[in-house]
Amino acid sequence: MSKASHDQVYLRELNLSLVLRLIHTQSPLSRAQIAITTGLNKSTVSSLVDELLGFNLIHETGVNSMGTGRPATLLEINPQAGCIIGVELGVDFVSVAVTDFLGNILWRRKEDADPSEDQEKMINQTLTIVRDGMTIGKNRNSRIFGLGLAIPGTVDIEHGVLIFAPNLHWRNVQFGRIYSKKTRLKVFVENDANAAAVAEHLFGTARRCRDFLFVFAGVGIGGGLFLNGKLYRGKNGYAGEIGHSPIMAEPAQTVCHCGNRGCWETYANQYSILQRVLARLEVKRTSIIPKLTAEQNSPLTIPLIKQAADLGDVEAIDSLVEAGHAMGQGFAGLINVFNPDKIILGGPLSITGKYLLPAIKETIARHALPEIEQQAEVLLSPFEADASLIGAIAIVADDVLSNPTHYERR
Ligand SMILES: [Zn+2]
Repeated sequence: MSKASHDQVYLRELNLSLVLRLIHTQSPLSRAQIAITTGLNKSTVSSLVDELLGFNLIHETGVNSMGTGRPATLLEINPQAGCIIGVELGVDFVSVAVTDFLGNILWRRKEDADPSEDQEKMINQTLTIVRDGMTIGKNRNSRIFGLGLAIPGTVDIEHGVLIFAPNLHWRNVQFGRIYSKKTRLKVFVENDANAAAVAEHLFGTARRCRDFLFVFAGVGIGGGLFLNGKLYRGKNGYAGEIGHSPIMAEPAQTVCHCGNRGCWETYANQYSILQRVLARLEVKRTSIIPKLTAEQNSPLTIPLIKQAADLGDVEAIDSLVEAGHAMGQGFAGLINVFNPDKIILGGPLSITGKYLLPAIKETIARHALPEIEQQAEVLLSPFEADASLIGAIAIVADDVLSNPTHYERR
């Protein structure tokens, strides 16, 4: 291909992506509205729209008869354009979902998993669920755009390799290669918090937001930094490991999963909440928690602590509030550094958000610089504990939006 025609193909792809993303964020839109917003001329927009209609990625939906002009046909994303398979490898579970192009869940399954068992067993367990999910896609007579995998660790996204997952104690796993060989699907691998940030941008609370931080809180605390309208990856793609930012380490402090002491997440992660509750139960005996664990024959878990808090249990509520203050300290630092529009909290701990959030906001007000703090909104992810699972879906959807011609209907 000559340089000139190569440039034309590239420009065409950029414009197709521009129009497709606009329809994704702001639909329904008319061709005229697309021309005004993008600055492209009307005939270019018409031909781009025709191409996207041909790919079946968008469809026409009704007419806009508002205003004085001629009624205009409106365009929106075609949710049935294709299915997406998302996989979240948690620290003690695997979760698989099949969604449509807009991230609406069609099917899902979650199973407990034990990462201390061998890696191959956990991967095979996941693949069995993925194959069931693929059948769902095929039964709907729908193409499968790809498979996204969200992992709690640092990821080389180009090669689909997990570099290091401190909470799983896994290093250098070729997830991309293994999954594409076994499923014959296009596979995308991403850090769980980064994936969740993409989900907020495409499907969640940050759809028109250019600067926001996603904080994943669970066994660990990870961050997805969305800056200037893009995921910020840093030099090697490992940006956002906010949980391991050191807060003045002292020898007595808890050892983090990463091996260090004094990491922020050791004050605010799931384990820290369980420890706070246990420490309180040792001295106070009025709590409802022992009764709940006995009745449910369950160990102490975050959902159980939430249940106790909802019943008004002071020990549960105070433990969550303490953890919220510790989270708020980390958030305040992030606000001072990044001046984000929003900070979105998701992951397993976010189910206790109504107890954490007021404490987080109080601490931010104390520690973030006043002007910056006033601009940053702190809110909960609508996907709660599923934030990274929807993230796994979102990284595939994002590739379709970036490279529509790769998904031309054959
Ligand atoms: Zn650490």
